[in-house]
Amino acid sequence: MSDTVDILGLTFPSFAAASGLGRGKAPGLRKAYSRALREGLWTPSLFLSRADAESLLPRFRAGLLEPVRCAAEEGELGATRKASLRLSDGATVECVLIPSPGGKSTLCLSSQVGCRMGCAFCETGRAGLARNLSVAEIVSQAVTARASLGWDFKNVVFMGMGEPLDNFGGLSGALAVLLGQEGPGLAQERVTVCTAGLPDGIARLKALGYRRLGLSVSLNAPDDETRSRLMPINRAFGLSALAGALAEYPARRNFALGVNYCLVPGVNDGPGAAAGVAAFVALAGRALVNVIPYNPGSAPISRAPSEPEVDRFVAALRARGLDARVRAPRGRGLMAACGQLGGASPGALDQASSSFSTLR
Ligand code: SF4
Repeated sequence: MSDTVDILGLTFPSFAAASGLGRGKAPGLRKAYSRALREGLWTPSLFLSRADAESLLPRFRAGLLEPVRCAAEEGELGATRKASLRLSDGATVECVLIPSPGGKSTLCLSSQVGCRMGCAFCETGRAGLARNLSVAEIVSQAVTARASLGWDFKNVVFMGMGEPLDNFGGLSGALAVLLGQEGPGLAQERVTVCTAGLPDGIARLKALGYRRLGLSVSLNAPDDETRSRLMPINRAFGLSALAGALAEYPARRNFALGVNYCLVPGVNDGPGAAAGVAAFVALAGRALVNVIPYNPGSAPISRAPSEPEVDRFVAALRARGLDARVRAPRGRGLMAACGQLGGASPGALDQASSSFSTLR
């Protein structure tokens, strides 16, 4: 196992080159590769001669992850599903299937084991960073979700455990595989990278040249003082640096940035909060603001906001000309909602204690 190469970490051109087979074998290689990336099945003997298959079989594998806990919670739009997946070193990451209107579910992927961003509302941040996920481990979450868990999804968002731009090599490699024609077949506009706000990483993401790739940012505060308290990364890169990097990101005219705002009562919902968000968006560019009601985790910093409080905040944003909506918390009982990934589960998952969680 150790000296086999995980095909899930390779683009098709890399795999074809690593195979050592000539260009004439490309059609068979492409089919074997696509089957591995779409169905998790490594079956070169179905598409290549016996001799070629025998040379490939021991050198490559399709490294699916082992689901160790799965749970589902029914909601208005369908079931939110959460799975803990075991990596080869025994660590676990979590991915979540989020139902969306029209049956186009979204798969939320993790990019790191833990996270070093240290956000105050996030249990992942409390544990710190254990390690980055490899390209194959990131891609394998999507392949495992489809092939082993039977999850059907149309969209992918990098919004699980970890800061994707802090694992840029893993993220960029995974994007290349996930967006490759021969791979899982995802369209750029159906993939969104969600960041806590790393200006350098945003510039590097733009430099990859994906013109239709989605980007969203976790704002979560209307001013530098509040944001630095909630998200320590803001002490290094304040709101104006972040807004400047975001303003440079759009690679197409109709791009709309996602701005996520977790509404924490008594923390970031004060009288000037909506105006602060509007000022940020004015600098960052066209945006859709997603207001996410705070989910108290195992170490709450506040309570969940009431529905009228959320509605008032959204109305205040709209009154300032912003495109704003409430993103309903889903999977709260599973600890699969924002700010809860990997956190201790009170319900079906029955996780004893876990250090990880995310909000984005
Ligand atoms: S919210 Fe995201 S960036 Fe912040 S600590 Fe949690 S996983 Fe990291």
